[in-house]
Amino acid sequence: MRSGHDHRVRGGHLWVFSNELQELPRLQPGSIVRVLSARGESFGTGIYNPHSLIAVRLLRSEVEELTVDFFAERIAQALALRQRLCPGEAAYRLVHGEADLLPGLVVDRYGDYLAVQTLAVGMDQRLPLIVEALRSVVPQTQGIVEKNHSRLRELERLPQRQGILWGTIPERMLIEEFGVRFEVSLLEGQKTGAYLDQRYHRALTGRLATGLRVLDCFTYHGGFALHAARHGAREVLAVDSSASALEAARRNAELNGADQVRFQEADVFDVLRRFVAEGQRWDMVILDPPAFAKSRRHVPSAKQGYAEINRLAMLLLPPGGYLVTSSCSHHVFEAVFLEVIFGEAARLGRQLRMLYRGTQPPDHPILLSMPETQYLKFFIFHVL
Ligand code: SAH
Repeated sequence: MRSGHDHRVRGGHLWVFSNELQELPRLQPGSIVRVLSARGESFGTGIYNPHSLIAVRLLRSEVEELTVDFFAERIAQALALRQRLCPGEAAYRLVHGEADLLPGLVVDRYGDYLAVQTLAVGMDQRLPLIVEALRSVVPQTQGIVEKNHSRLRELERLPQRQGILWGTIPERMLIEEFGVRFEVSLLEGQKTGAYLDQRYHRALTGRLATGLRVLDCFTYHGGFALHAARHGAREVLAVDSSASALEAARRNAELNGADQVRFQEADVFDVLRRFVAEGQRWDMVILDPPAFAKSRRHVPSAKQGYAEINRLAMLLLPPGGYLVTSSCSHHVFEAVFLEVIFGEAARLGRQLRMLYRGTQPPDHPILLSMPETQYLKFFIFHVL
């Protein structure tokens, strides 16, 4: 590394950017390299990609090759942590990339089925080893699917790919989430099939919804809406722009006997604007949009997007109403997101009382040394 450029890595950050290296060695993408300070101290080995801005992903190890045993050991550690954190839960994130010291590897578990994403070249090349390691650490595994349709792969010059890696994958499976049953399609669903990172927030939000009229924006498969219904929400309208997501959401509503939930296929921005123009009132508005800022340069427009939906939501809420709002854009930091919401509340003369402030669940851990591993912001506000 260039002298004076190793501060982050010394603090435990696992990425070495290409401009922090004295030279980019002529090695194949995916090679294992040892990273040294300008004075020759070792920062351990890592996976190299000369074509990515993230030139090396460190492993916190001195291994010289990645073997099935290496993966099995780290996956076993990740599994032991989840068994402690998520007892009784069928679906959780088994491997959360860098935070499990497996940079660029994501594995979500849905019962006996696993969904894998490899977001870095070195991991992608080693998929066969990873599959073997997963099968040995989770021997009851029936099938492993790859959900490699993430935009992050473009930054590594990796193609978009999706399909069964091993075993069989049912077209649809059922998972239960704190009393609500959901169908999951590992082959067709967004992300790895479900948005596991909001599951505790869905359960908590549901508990507040008893007797209320609830508007669930960006519902996907009906997540927040069905938890609200289970807790006796009086009426729920759930909106999403994806027809296929809503088809699954309707099946889920039926599965749970939630007849007070209606679904609408529409753009949330349009729906909110129209409802405000019509003077509608809702007791609880839930906003769980996709990441508006996929990279740092999108932050200004993302802030405008968050400002707009949160302002419109506040206009629908009477005093005593609940604003449930989140952002999964890593680049929009919590303080910035709060400032946006506070700014809109102040302009409208609304006093918001924070009832809950959350981030990712513990099976999506965060490395303090790597702010990039934190992305989720979630708040419940009470309008005074
Ligand atoms: N709340 C969901 C997850 C939401 S993911 C849960 O708890 O499971 C974001 C969803 O927003 C996706 O289903 C996507 O189809 C939808 N979406 C994206 N842009 C949209 C828009 N402008 N209007 C409506 N839905 C949108």
